[in-house]
Amino acid sequence: MKSEMGIPLRVLMVEDSEDDAALIVHNLKRGGYDPIVNRVETAAEMETALVQKQWDIVLCDYCMPQFSTVHALDVVHRSQLDLPFIIVSATIGEEVAVAIMKAGAHDYVMKGNLARLSAAIERELREAEIRQERRRVEEKMKQMAFYDPLTGLPNRNLFHDRLDQAILGGQREKTTVALLLIDIDRFKDVNDTLGHQQGDIVLQQVGRRIQALLRKSDTIAHLGGDEYGVLLPETGVEGAISTSNKILAALEKPIVLNDLPLCIEVSIGIALFPEHGGDTETLLRRVDMAMYVAKQGGNRHTVYVSELDRHSAFRLTLISELRRAIENDDLFLVYQPKVDMKKGCTIGVEALVRWQHGDRGLILPESFITLAERTGLIKSLTLWVLKASIQQCRQWQLNNLPLDIAVNLSARNLHDPELSEKIADLLSTSGLPAEKLQLEITESAIMVDLGRAMENLNRLREIGIRLSIDDFGTGHSSLSYLKKLPVNELKIDMSFIKDMDEDDDDAVIVKSTIDLGHNLGLSVVAEGVEKESTWNRLLKMGCDSAQGYYMSHPIEQTELTRWLQKTSWGLSMPSQSLPQIKSRDVA
Ligand code: C2E
Ligand code: MG
Ligand code: MG
Repeated sequence: MKSEMGIPLRVLMVEDSEDDAALIVHNLKRGGYDPIVNRVETAAEMETALVQKQWDIVLCDYCMPQFSTVHALDVVHRSQLDLPFIIVSATIGEEVAVAIMKAGAHDYVMKGNLARLSAAIERELREAEIRQERRRVEEKMKQMAFYDPLTGLPNRNLFHDRLDQAILGGQREKTTVALLLIDIDRFKDVNDTLGHQQGDIVLQQVGRRIQALLRKSDTIAHLGGDEYGVLLPETGVEGAISTSNKILAALEKPIVLNDLPLCIEVSIGIALFPEHGGDTETLLRRVDMAMYVAKQGGNRHTVYVSELDRHSAFRLTLISELRRAIENDDLFLVYQPKVDMKKGCTIGVEALVRWQHGDRGLILPESFITLAERTGLIKSLTLWVLKASIQQCRQWQLNNLPLDIAVNLSARNLHDPELSEKIADLLSTSGLPAEKLQLEITESAIMVDLGRAMENLNRLREIGIRLSIDDFGTGHSSLSYLKKLPVNELKIDMSFIKDMDEDDDDAVIVKSTIDLGHNLGLSVVAEGVEKESTWNRLLKMGCDSAQGYYMSHPIEQTELTRWLQKTSWGLSMPSQSLPQIKSRDVA
């Protein structure tokens, strides 16, 4: 057979006998191969050969005095090459053969039966190819594990890896590394209102815009959700800030979705190696903190400073303490009377939550409602408030106190599909008629996702619960939707009420809101009535009811019963029937 017709085969032959080698080559040629053979006799020779050239197969004699087969196998394994390894032996017994195959050899062929060799080689080459293909697929999968399919950007894994590398580089070269964490503000609202598909487009666009302004040596990653990480090697604080400003500028232009421009804003946290942390974990924690503070403070970017640590530690403690407070009933309710202006009597109360903290004392809702909203604790918090309010109101009812109760809901509650069911359960367990319960919802909470809000509001209305729009006038929402909302009441925000005596504009707004409410068939409440003059003016304007310090601050249950007995704004019933109720507690 002519050699140029054979299949090229690069053979690394471990063989101490030249004659045997020639015999093997002869056999290969007969089997249809065109072998290029390099014969080695020692480990050192073999190692050199493996590094210097590429091989298709190793053929290894079993009986060599100075270099054992096991040793040769080990040399191949250490080279990390996946080469088919066939033992070609004169003497090997079955048991030894099996042992060596277990050690990693692929096959063995007796020198007396070399006709088998070609077939063995063919099979091993095929199997090697399959192994290689599988490795390619694994490699591809690994690759996919490092990139985010939505944006095509590096994902969190790769980002952390690059950060590790950048820190090592920084340590070696004594250079700084800047880390930015970018988070889209109110992205949840985008997703909730426009749908996930549009949300995805926003995520892609933001990634693309940021990527476009970075250098090749920088890394941008999509870390998941609405978060991006940017890694700037050899960059200090000035560079980090100027890049942040560039990112903010690039995101100023609205993103167009379905021909509609959408303005998005981001908050950026900045942390630097080595100034703010010497390792990946610390840096990531600190950049997260900086981002959180940027978001809280409404700053567009914030560089980490050590004071932020305390801030964040405080926040974390507060979250877990609040969780415990909800579980342990360390919350309590205060009630602010709501007075019917024309009749001059109290018709209901608004329940407002308070937190009696073991060490920090009394905490007002403004210090923990937002936190609860951010962390999802708001669900259990609201449930606690609802339960306590409903029980209390039922208690009043049993004691012949005709008081309605109003409970505040957050946006998150309004988007909880189980809300109406949970409330219906609470009502039926307590035996309180649904009409006694009112829910206060802010305009902005409704507008976050009008569709879903409407569903929930309609369901609540069907149960018979009354609904009120809280803080009305602050939500910049259009009036057209107001007609469609299944609500019973408008509460004019106290910012308009407070100054209406001095500020004519405010007075005009209040008057027209009252008229608007009445035109829509709604009852109108003024909140934050602090003075007699305000009361009188509202009365003249036709406002239906009022709440405020002028009548009463929010007070605990026992104080409320006392107040109801002595005030001129008492209940529209003979006051001698007022019972004495001791405990403030309702649970
Ligand atoms: P809001 O629902 O608008 O409640 C009225 C707030 O104004 C209460 O503050 C009340 O104490 C205060 N206020 C009442 N009359 C006057 C007045 O004449 N002058 C002034 N300056 N203020 C007055 P509070 O209790 O601190 O609650 C603040 C906000 O926290 C509430 O605003 C409500 O949005 C939220 N909140 C309170 N309790 C809950 C709750 O159980 N769940 C939820 N989701 N939010 C709650
Ligand atoms: Mg309210
Ligand atoms: Mg309000």
